[in-house]
Amino acid sequence: MSGESEVQRIMEIVLTAEIFNQYQQLDINDLTPTCREIFRSDVTTLDVKRPVSASDGRIKASLGIADAHKKVSANPFVSVEEFGQRMKITALEPAAQRFLSEGGISLTRQNPVLAFYLEKLGSENISYKSAREANLPCQDTKAHLDARLSRLIGEDEKLRNALDLVIINAPEEVEQDIGDLVCTEEQLAIVRKIQHSIEHRDFLHRHRIYEIGKLLFVGPPGTGKTSMALALSRTMHMPILEVRLSMITSQYLGETSKNIDRIFELAKKLSPAILFIDEFDFVAKSRTADDHGAMKRAVNSLLKNIDKINLIKNGVLLIGATNHPQLLDDAAWRRFDEVIEFALPDEEMRRNILKTITSSLHCSIDYQALAKQTEGFSGADLRMMIKEAILSALMDKRQTIGPADIKKGIEMVRNREAIRHQNWI
Ligand code: ATP
Repeated sequence: MSGESEVQRIMEIVLTAEIFNQYQQLDINDLTPTCREIFRSDVTTLDVKRPVSASDGRIKASLGIADAHKKVSANPFVSVEEFGQRMKITALEPAAQRFLSEGGISLTRQNPVLAFYLEKLGSENISYKSAREANLPCQDTKAHLDARLSRLIGEDEKLRNALDLVIINAPEEVEQDIGDLVCTEEQLAIVRKIQHSIEHRDFLHRHRIYEIGKLLFVGPPGTGKTSMALALSRTMHMPILEVRLSMITSQYLGETSKNIDRIFELAKKLSPAILFIDEFDFVAKSRTADDHGAMKRAVNSLLKNIDKINLIKNGVLLIGATNHPQLLDDAAWRRFDEVIEFALPDEEMRRNILKTITSSLHCSIDYQALAKQTEGFSGADLRMMIKEAILSALMDKRQTIGPADIKKGIEMVRNREAIRHQNWI
Protein backbone atom coordinates (compact mmCIF):
# COMPACT_ATOMS: atom_id res chain seq x y z
CA MET A 1 0.00 0.00 0.00
CA SER A 2 1.45 3.43 -0.92
CA GLY A 3 2.06 6.13 1.69
CA GLU A 4 -0.46 8.40 0.05
CA SER A 5 -3.33 5.96 0.26
CA GLU A 6 -2.41 5.20 3.86
CA VAL A 7 -2.75 8.93 4.56
CA GLN A 8 -6.16 8.96 2.88
CA ARG A 9 -7.31 5.99 4.91
CA ILE A 10 -6.16 7.59 8.17
CA MET A 11 -7.80 10.90 7.21
CA GLU A 12 -11.04 9.03 6.47
CA ILE A 13 -11.13 7.79 10.07
CA VAL A 14 -10.15 11.12 11.64
CA LEU A 15 -12.75 13.04 9.61
CA THR A 16 -15.43 10.44 10.25
CA ALA A 17 -14.85 10.71 14.01
CA GLU A 18 -15.14 14.50 13.91
CA ILE A 19 -18.34 14.56 11.82
CA PHE A 20 -19.93 11.70 13.77
CA ASN A 21 -19.31 13.57 17.05
CA GLN A 22 -20.81 16.78 15.71
CA TYR A 23 -23.96 15.32 14.11
CA GLN A 24 -26.02 13.43 16.66
CA GLN A 25 -28.51 12.20 14.04
CA LEU A 26 -25.87 9.86 12.60
CA ASP A 27 -26.01 6.30 13.92
CA ILE A 28 -24.12 3.02 13.79
CA ASN A 29 -25.39 2.27 10.28
CA ASP A 30 -23.71 5.45 9.05
CA LEU A 31 -20.35 3.97 10.00
CA THR A 32 -18.41 1.67 7.68
CA PRO A 33 -17.56 -1.74 9.20
CA THR A 34 -13.98 -0.52 9.81
CA CYS A 35 -15.17 2.64 11.58
CA ARG A 36 -17.58 0.54 13.68
CA GLU A 37 -14.59 -1.48 14.81
CA ILE A 38 -12.26 1.47 15.44
CA PHE A 39 -14.91 3.40 17.39
CA ARG A 40 -15.71 0.31 19.51
CA SER A 41 -19.38 0.24 18.61
CA ASP A 42 -21.50 -2.20 20.57
CA VAL A 43 -22.73 -4.62 17.91
CA THR A 44 -25.26 -6.17 20.32
CA THR A 45 -27.10 -3.02 21.34
CA LEU A 46 -26.14 -1.09 18.16
CA ASP A 47 -24.90 1.69 20.40
CA VAL A 48 -21.90 3.95 19.68
CA LYS A 49 -20.73 6.01 22.62
CA ARG A 50 -19.82 9.60 21.72
CA PRO A 51 -17.29 11.12 21.58
CA VAL A 52 -15.59 8.61 19.30
CA SER A 53 -11.90 9.06 18.59
CA ALA A 54 -9.17 8.12 16.14
CA SER A 55 -6.02 7.00 17.93
CA ASP A 56 -2.78 5.42 16.75
CA GLY A 57 -3.49 2.21 18.64
CA ARG A 58 -6.94 1.58 17.19
CA ILE A 59 -5.90 2.47 13.66
CA LYS A 60 -2.95 0.08 13.95
CA ALA A 61 -5.21 -2.69 15.26
CA SER A 62 -7.89 -2.33 12.55
CA LEU A 63 -6.01 -1.08 9.50
CA GLY A 64 -2.52 -2.36 10.29
CA ILE A 65 -1.11 1.17 9.78
CA ALA A 66 1.50 2.14 12.39
CA ASP A 67 2.24 5.67 13.70
CA ALA A 68 -0.86 7.16 12.12
CA HIS A 69 -0.39 10.57 13.73
CA LYS A 70 3.07 10.96 12.19
CA LYS A 71 1.71 10.13 8.75
CA VAL A 72 -0.86 12.96 8.84
CA SER A 73 1.39 15.50 10.59
CA ALA A 74 1.77 17.51 7.35
CA ASN A 75 -1.97 18.15 7.21
CA PRO A 76 -2.57 21.68 8.61
CA PHE A 77 -6.10 20.77 9.77
CA VAL A 78 -5.06 17.92 12.06
CA SER A 79 -3.89 18.32 15.63
CA VAL A 80 -2.55 15.54 17.83
CA GLU A 81 -3.09 15.06 21.52
CA GLU A 82 0.23 13.66 22.64
CA PHE A 83 -1.36 11.49 25.29
CA GLY A 84 -2.72 8.45 23.45
CA GLN A 85 -1.84 9.99 20.08
CA ARG A 86 -5.44 10.98 19.37
CA MET A 87 -5.96 12.95 16.19
CA LYS A 88 -8.42 15.80 15.92
CA ILE A 89 -9.64 18.06 13.15
CA THR A 90 -9.11 21.77 13.75
CA ALA A 91 -11.23 23.11 10.86
CA LEU A 92 -13.76 20.64 9.52
CA GLU A 93 -14.93 22.21 6.27
CA PRO A 94 -11.50 22.87 4.70
CA ALA A 95 -10.22 19.51 6.01
CA ALA A 96 -13.11 17.67 4.30
CA GLN A 97 -12.71 19.63 1.05
CA ARG A 98 -8.99 18.91 1.03
CA PHE A 99 -9.65 15.18 1.59
CA LEU A 100 -12.00 15.13 -1.38
CA SER A 101 -9.70 17.08 -3.68
CA GLU A 102 -6.72 14.87 -2.79
CA GLY A 103 -8.37 11.70 -4.08
CA GLY A 104 -10.79 10.77 -1.29
CA ILE A 105 -13.82 10.53 -3.55
CA SER A 106 -14.08 6.73 -3.71
CA LEU A 107 -13.65 6.40 0.07
CA THR A 108 -16.34 9.09 0.54
CA ARG A 109 -18.79 7.27 -1.72
CA GLN A 110 -18.51 4.23 0.54
CA ASN A 111 -18.61 6.18 3.81
CA PRO A 112 -22.07 7.50 4.81
CA VAL A 113 -20.71 9.91 7.46
CA LEU A 114 -18.38 11.62 4.98
CA ALA A 115 -21.01 11.51 2.23
CA PHE A 116 -23.59 13.08 4.58
CA TYR A 117 -21.29 16.01 5.34
CA LEU A 118 -19.89 16.56 1.85
CA GLU A 119 -23.30 16.28 0.21
CA LYS A 120 -24.50 18.97 2.61
CA LEU A 121 -21.57 21.15 1.51
CA GLY A 122 -22.81 20.76 -2.06
CA SER A 123 -20.13 18.41 -3.39
CA GLU A 124 -21.14 16.95 -6.72
CA ASN A 125 -21.40 13.21 -7.37
CA ILE A 126 -21.66 12.40 -3.67
CA SER A 127 -24.83 10.79 -2.36
CA TYR A 128 -25.47 10.02 1.30
CA LYS A 129 -28.25 7.60 0.30
CA SER A 130 -25.95 5.60 -2.02
CA ALA A 131 -23.22 5.50 0.62
CA ARG A 132 -25.72 4.12 3.15
CA GLU A 133 -26.76 1.47 0.65
CA ALA A 134 -23.14 0.52 0.06
CA ASN A 135 -22.80 -0.64 3.69
CA LEU A 136 -24.61 -3.55 5.26
CA PRO A 137 -26.79 -2.46 8.19
CA CYS A 138 -25.22 -3.66 11.44
CA GLN A 139 -28.38 -5.68 12.24
CA ASP A 140 -27.67 -7.81 9.14
CA THR A 141 -24.19 -8.86 10.15
CA LYS A 142 -23.05 -12.19 11.52
CA ALA A 143 -21.18 -10.32 14.28
CA HIS A 144 -24.45 -8.78 15.51
CA LEU A 145 -26.28 -12.12 15.40
CA ASP A 146 -23.46 -13.97 17.20
CA ALA A 147 -23.29 -11.32 19.90
CA ARG A 148 -27.04 -11.56 20.49
CA LEU A 149 -26.98 -15.36 20.53
CA SER A 150 -24.20 -15.55 23.10
CA ARG A 151 -25.98 -13.02 25.29
CA LEU A 152 -29.22 -15.04 25.08
CA ILE A 153 -27.46 -18.26 26.00
CA GLY A 154 -25.79 -16.48 28.88
CA GLU A 155 -29.21 -15.55 30.21
CA ASP A 156 -30.84 -18.96 29.62
CA GLU A 157 -28.61 -22.01 29.26
CA LYS A 158 -31.51 -24.16 28.01
CA LEU A 159 -31.65 -22.19 24.78
CA ARG A 160 -28.34 -23.86 23.89
CA ASN A 161 -30.25 -27.12 23.19
CA ALA A 162 -32.41 -25.28 20.68
CA LEU A 163 -29.30 -24.14 18.86
CA ASP A 164 -28.42 -27.74 18.01
CA LEU A 165 -31.72 -28.13 16.20
CA VAL A 166 -31.77 -25.06 14.03
CA ILE A 167 -29.51 -23.56 11.41
CA ILE A 168 -29.34 -19.82 12.03
CA ASN A 169 -28.06 -17.38 9.44
CA ALA A 170 -27.68 -13.63 9.52
CA PRO A 171 -28.86 -11.84 6.34
CA GLU A 172 -25.17 -11.20 5.61
CA GLU A 173 -24.55 -14.95 5.34
CA VAL A 174 -27.44 -15.65 2.97
CA GLU A 175 -26.23 -15.83 -0.61
CA GLN A 176 -29.63 -16.17 -2.22
CA ASP A 177 -30.77 -12.88 -3.72
CA ILE A 178 -34.42 -12.39 -4.58
CA GLY A 179 -33.34 -10.89 -7.91
CA ASP A 180 -31.88 -14.27 -8.92
CA LEU A 181 -35.15 -16.08 -8.32
CA VAL A 182 -37.73 -16.26 -11.08
CA CYS A 183 -41.01 -15.69 -9.25
CA THR A 184 -44.67 -15.77 -10.17
CA GLU A 185 -46.77 -12.63 -9.78
CA GLU A 186 -48.50 -14.25 -6.81
CA GLN A 187 -45.18 -14.89 -5.06
CA LEU A 188 -44.01 -11.32 -5.63
CA ALA A 189 -47.33 -9.97 -4.36
CA ILE A 190 -46.83 -11.85 -1.09
CA VAL A 191 -43.33 -10.44 -0.70
CA ARG A 192 -44.71 -6.92 -1.15
CA LYS A 193 -47.53 -7.60 1.29
CA ILE A 194 -45.14 -8.81 3.97
CA GLN A 195 -42.81 -5.86 3.38
CA HIS A 196 -45.69 -3.42 3.87
CA SER A 197 -46.95 -5.27 6.94
CA ILE A 198 -43.51 -5.00 8.55
CA GLU A 199 -43.24 -1.31 7.66
CA HIS A 200 -46.67 -0.64 9.16
CA ARG A 201 -46.41 -3.06 12.04
CA ASP A 202 -47.35 -0.47 14.69
CA PHE A 203 -50.41 0.62 12.74
CA LEU A 204 -51.59 -2.97 12.32
CA HIS A 205 -50.91 -3.66 16.01
CA ARG A 206 -52.99 -0.64 17.04
CA HIS A 207 -55.89 -1.89 14.93
CA ARG A 208 -55.43 -5.49 16.07
CA ILE A 209 -54.90 -6.89 12.60
CA TYR A 210 -52.81 -9.92 13.43
CA GLU A 211 -53.68 -12.46 10.73
CA ILE A 212 -50.58 -11.77 8.67
CA GLY A 213 -47.21 -13.45 8.44
CA LYS A 214 -47.80 -17.20 8.64
CA LEU A 215 -47.03 -18.52 5.20
CA LEU A 216 -47.16 -22.04 3.81
CA PHE A 217 -45.04 -22.69 0.72
CA VAL A 218 -46.41 -25.62 -1.23
CA GLY A 219 -44.91 -27.36 -4.25
CA PRO A 220 -42.77 -30.16 -5.64
CA PRO A 221 -39.06 -30.46 -4.74
CA GLY A 222 -36.66 -27.98 -6.28
CA THR A 223 -39.16 -25.24 -7.06
CA GLY A 224 -37.55 -22.53 -4.94
CA LYS A 225 -39.34 -22.75 -1.58
CA THR A 226 -36.17 -22.78 0.53
CA SER A 227 -34.51 -20.26 -1.76
CA MET A 228 -37.43 -17.86 -1.36
CA ALA A 229 -37.35 -18.15 2.46
CA LEU A 230 -33.61 -17.41 2.45
CA ALA A 231 -33.99 -14.53 0.00
CA LEU A 232 -36.64 -12.99 2.29
CA SER A 233 -34.07 -12.93 5.08
CA ARG A 234 -31.88 -10.63 2.99
CA THR A 235 -34.73 -8.54 1.63
CA MET A 236 -36.41 -8.04 5.01
CA HIS A 237 -33.14 -7.72 6.98
CA MET A 238 -34.10 -10.51 9.39
CA PRO A 239 -32.02 -13.50 10.51
CA ILE A 240 -33.46 -16.84 9.46
CA LEU A 241 -33.84 -19.90 11.71
CA GLU A 242 -34.19 -23.02 9.60
CA VAL A 243 -35.72 -26.12 11.16
CA ARG A 244 -36.25 -29.58 9.73
CA LEU A 245 -39.14 -31.22 11.53
CA SER A 246 -37.71 -34.68 10.95
CA MET A 247 -34.53 -33.60 12.74
CA ILE A 248 -36.32 -32.39 15.85
CA THR A 249 -38.53 -35.41 16.18
CA SER A 250 -35.91 -38.05 15.41
CA GLN A 251 -33.83 -37.03 18.44
CA TYR A 252 -34.70 -37.55 22.09
CA LEU A 253 -38.40 -38.18 21.74
CA GLY A 254 -39.28 -37.24 25.31
CA GLU A 255 -37.62 -33.87 24.83
CA THR A 256 -39.31 -33.06 21.54
CA SER A 257 -42.11 -30.85 22.90
CA LYS A 258 -39.65 -28.90 25.00
CA ASN A 259 -37.31 -28.49 22.04
CA ILE A 260 -40.12 -27.12 19.94
CA ASP A 261 -40.98 -24.63 22.70
CA ARG A 262 -37.32 -23.58 22.87
CA ILE A 263 -37.05 -23.03 19.12
CA PHE A 264 -40.07 -20.74 19.13
CA GLU A 265 -38.69 -18.98 22.22
CA LEU A 266 -35.40 -18.40 20.43
CA ALA A 267 -37.17 -17.04 17.33
CA LYS A 268 -39.11 -14.57 19.50
CA LYS A 269 -35.96 -13.47 21.32
CA LEU A 270 -34.14 -12.91 18.03
CA SER A 271 -37.06 -11.05 16.47
CA PRO A 272 -37.54 -9.54 14.00
CA ALA A 273 -36.70 -12.95 12.54
CA ILE A 274 -37.89 -15.60 10.10
CA LEU A 275 -38.69 -19.08 11.39
CA PHE A 276 -38.59 -21.47 8.44
CA ILE A 277 -40.02 -24.94 9.10
CA ASP A 278 -39.22 -27.29 6.25
CA GLU A 279 -40.89 -30.70 5.71
CA PHE A 280 -44.02 -29.45 7.42
CA ASP A 281 -45.90 -32.57 6.30
CA PHE A 282 -43.88 -34.51 8.88
CA VAL A 283 -46.56 -33.37 11.32
CA ALA A 284 -49.09 -35.55 9.56
CA LYS A 285 -46.81 -38.54 8.99
CA SER A 286 -45.78 -38.70 12.61
CA ARG A 287 -49.37 -38.86 13.82
CA THR A 288 -50.02 -42.18 12.14
CA ALA A 289 -46.63 -43.74 12.90
CA ASP A 290 -46.57 -43.00 16.62
CA ASP A 291 -47.24 -45.64 19.25
CA HIS A 292 -46.41 -43.91 22.49
CA GLY A 293 -48.14 -40.58 22.17
CA ALA A 294 -44.91 -38.56 22.54
CA MET A 295 -45.09 -37.54 18.92
CA LYS A 296 -48.72 -36.51 19.31
CA ARG A 297 -47.71 -34.25 22.17
CA ALA A 298 -44.93 -32.82 20.03
CA VAL A 299 -47.31 -32.03 17.18
CA ASN A 300 -49.75 -30.41 19.60
CA SER A 301 -46.92 -28.37 21.03
CA LEU A 302 -45.94 -27.27 17.51
CA LEU A 303 -49.48 -26.21 16.66
CA LYS A 304 -49.88 -24.38 19.97
CA ASN A 305 -46.63 -22.52 19.42
CA ILE A 306 -47.74 -21.53 15.94
CA ASP A 307 -50.91 -20.09 17.45
CA LYS A 308 -48.92 -18.02 19.90
CA ILE A 309 -46.40 -16.62 17.47
CA ASN A 310 -47.23 -13.58 15.40
CA LEU A 311 -45.49 -11.25 12.96
CA ILE A 312 -47.32 -8.17 14.20
CA LYS A 313 -47.06 -8.91 17.93
CA ASN A 314 -43.72 -10.76 18.17
CA GLY A 315 -41.96 -9.84 14.92
CA VAL A 316 -41.61 -13.45 13.77
CA LEU A 317 -42.42 -14.34 10.17
CA LEU A 318 -43.31 -18.03 10.11
CA ILE A 319 -42.82 -19.97 6.89
CA GLY A 320 -43.77 -23.62 6.58
CA ALA A 321 -42.84 -25.60 3.47
CA THR A 322 -44.12 -28.89 2.18
CA ASN A 323 -43.93 -31.10 -0.91
CA HIS A 324 -47.04 -33.02 0.21
CA PRO A 325 -49.86 -30.59 1.01
CA GLN A 326 -52.43 -33.39 0.73
CA LEU A 327 -51.00 -34.92 3.94
CA LEU A 328 -51.84 -31.87 6.03
CA ASP A 329 -55.10 -31.98 7.93
CA ASP A 330 -57.40 -29.04 8.57
CA ALA A 331 -55.83 -28.32 11.97
CA ALA A 332 -52.43 -27.68 10.41
CA TRP A 333 -53.73 -26.07 7.20
CA ARG A 334 -55.91 -23.44 8.83
CA ARG A 335 -53.08 -22.10 10.97
CA PHE A 336 -51.52 -20.45 7.93
CA ASP A 337 -52.70 -17.04 6.76
CA GLU A 338 -51.51 -17.55 3.19
CA VAL A 339 -50.76 -20.63 1.11
CA ILE A 340 -48.36 -19.90 -1.75
CA GLU A 341 -47.96 -22.24 -4.64
CA PHE A 342 -44.52 -23.16 -5.99
CA ALA A 343 -45.51 -25.13 -9.07
CA LEU A 344 -43.11 -26.59 -11.62
CA PRO A 345 -42.08 -23.68 -13.85
CA ASP A 346 -43.95 -23.16 -17.12
CA GLU A 347 -42.14 -22.57 -20.40
CA GLU A 348 -41.66 -18.84 -19.91
CA MET A 349 -40.40 -19.29 -16.35
CA ARG A 350 -38.01 -22.02 -17.49
CA ARG A 351 -36.62 -19.67 -20.13
CA ASN A 352 -36.12 -16.96 -17.52
CA ILE A 353 -34.56 -19.35 -15.00
CA LEU A 354 -32.14 -20.58 -17.68
CA LYS A 355 -31.19 -17.00 -18.54
CA THR A 356 -30.63 -16.18 -14.86
CA ILE A 357 -28.52 -19.27 -14.18
CA THR A 358 -26.34 -18.72 -17.25
CA SER A 359 -26.08 -14.92 -17.00
CA SER A 360 -22.36 -14.96 -16.15
CA LEU A 361 -21.43 -17.73 -18.61
CA HIS A 362 -20.39 -17.76 -22.24
CA CYS A 363 -22.87 -19.97 -24.00
CA SER A 364 -24.54 -20.36 -27.33
CA ILE A 365 -27.98 -21.49 -26.26
CA ASP A 366 -31.34 -21.18 -27.98
CA TYR A 367 -33.24 -20.38 -24.78
CA GLN A 368 -36.64 -20.62 -26.42
CA ALA A 369 -35.98 -24.11 -27.76
CA LEU A 370 -34.35 -25.29 -24.55
CA ALA A 371 -37.28 -24.06 -22.46
CA LYS A 372 -39.58 -26.12 -24.70
CA GLN A 373 -37.37 -29.19 -24.42
CA THR A 374 -37.25 -29.14 -20.62
CA GLU A 375 -40.96 -29.56 -19.88
CA GLY A 376 -41.40 -31.00 -16.37
CA PHE A 377 -37.99 -29.75 -15.11
CA SER A 378 -37.91 -27.91 -11.78
CA GLY A 379 -35.61 -24.94 -11.13
CA ALA A 380 -33.26 -27.34 -9.33
CA ASP A 381 -33.26 -29.68 -12.39
CA LEU A 382 -32.37 -26.75 -14.64
CA ARG A 383 -29.47 -25.82 -12.37
CA MET A 384 -28.27 -29.41 -12.37
CA MET A 385 -28.52 -29.55 -16.16
CA ILE A 386 -26.42 -26.39 -16.57
CA LYS A 387 -23.87 -27.57 -13.98
CA GLU A 388 -23.45 -30.79 -15.99
CA ALA A 389 -23.11 -28.78 -19.21
CA ILE A 390 -20.41 -26.59 -17.63
CA LEU A 391 -18.46 -29.66 -16.49
CA SER A 392 -18.79 -31.21 -19.93
CA ALA A 393 -17.31 -28.08 -21.52
CA LEU A 394 -14.52 -27.82 -18.92
CA MET A 395 -13.53 -31.45 -19.42
CA ASP A 396 -13.22 -30.64 -23.09
CA LYS A 397 -10.97 -27.66 -22.16
CA ARG A 398 -13.57 -25.10 -23.19
CA GLN A 399 -15.23 -22.33 -21.19
CA THR A 400 -18.01 -21.77 -23.70
CA ILE A 401 -21.04 -24.00 -23.41
CA GLY A 402 -22.49 -25.38 -26.61
CA PRO A 403 -25.47 -27.54 -27.67
CA ALA A 404 -23.58 -30.84 -27.13
CA ASP A 405 -22.89 -29.91 -23.48
CA ILE A 406 -26.53 -28.98 -22.93
CA LYS A 407 -27.58 -32.30 -24.41
CA LYS A 408 -25.41 -34.10 -21.84
CA GLY A 409 -27.01 -32.02 -19.09
CA ILE A 410 -30.53 -32.93 -20.21
CA GLU A 411 -29.64 -36.60 -20.41
CA MET A 412 -28.17 -36.55 -16.94
CA VAL A 413 -31.34 -35.08 -15.41
CA ARG A 414 -33.56 -37.50 -17.35
CA ASN A 415 -31.44 -40.49 -16.28
CA ARG A 416 -31.74 -39.51 -12.63
CA GLU A 417 -35.51 -39.36 -12.97
CA ALA A 418 -35.59 -42.72 -14.76
CA ILE A 419 -33.56 -44.38 -11.98
CA ARG A 420 -35.85 -42.85 -9.39
CA HIS A 421 -38.93 -44.33 -10.98
CA GLN A 422 -37.41 -47.71 -11.80
CA ASN A 423 -39.28 -50.70 -10.45
CA TRP A 424 -36.66 -53.01 -8.93
CA ILE A 425 -38.91 -55.92 -8.19
P1 ATP B 1 -37.24 -28.97 -1.58
O1 ATP B 1 -38.70 -29.06 -1.50
O2 ATP B 1 -36.59 -30.19 -2.14
O3 ATP B 1 -36.60 -28.48 -0.31
P2 ATP B 1 -37.21 -26.31 -2.72
O4 ATP B 1 -38.52 -26.05 -3.35
O5 ATP B 1 -36.97 -25.76 -1.39
O6 ATP B 1 -36.91 -27.87 -2.73
P3 ATP B 1 -34.82 -24.92 -3.50
O7 ATP B 1 -33.92 -25.71 -2.59
O8 ATP B 1 -35.18 -23.55 -3.07
O9 ATP B 1 -36.12 -25.77 -3.76
O10 ATP B 1 -34.22 -24.82 -4.96
C1 ATP B 1 -33.18 -25.67 -5.43
C2 ATP B 1 -32.32 -24.92 -6.42
O11 ATP B 1 -33.06 -24.58 -7.59
C3 ATP B 1 -31.79 -23.61 -5.86
O12 ATP B 1 -30.44 -23.49 -6.20
C4 ATP B 1 -32.61 -22.54 -6.55
O13 ATP B 1 -31.88 -21.38 -6.71
C5 ATP B 1 -33.00 -23.19 -7.88
N1 ATP B 1 -34.36 -22.74 -8.23
C6 ATP B 1 -35.53 -23.33 -7.96
N2 ATP B 1 -36.56 -22.60 -8.40
C7 ATP B 1 -36.03 -21.49 -8.96
C8 ATP B 1 -36.57 -20.32 -9.57
N3 ATP B 1 -37.89 -20.14 -9.69
N4 ATP B 1 -35.73 -19.37 -10.04
C9 ATP B 1 -34.39 -19.53 -9.93
N5 ATP B 1 -33.81 -20.60 -9.34
C10 ATP B 1 -34.60 -21.57 -8.89
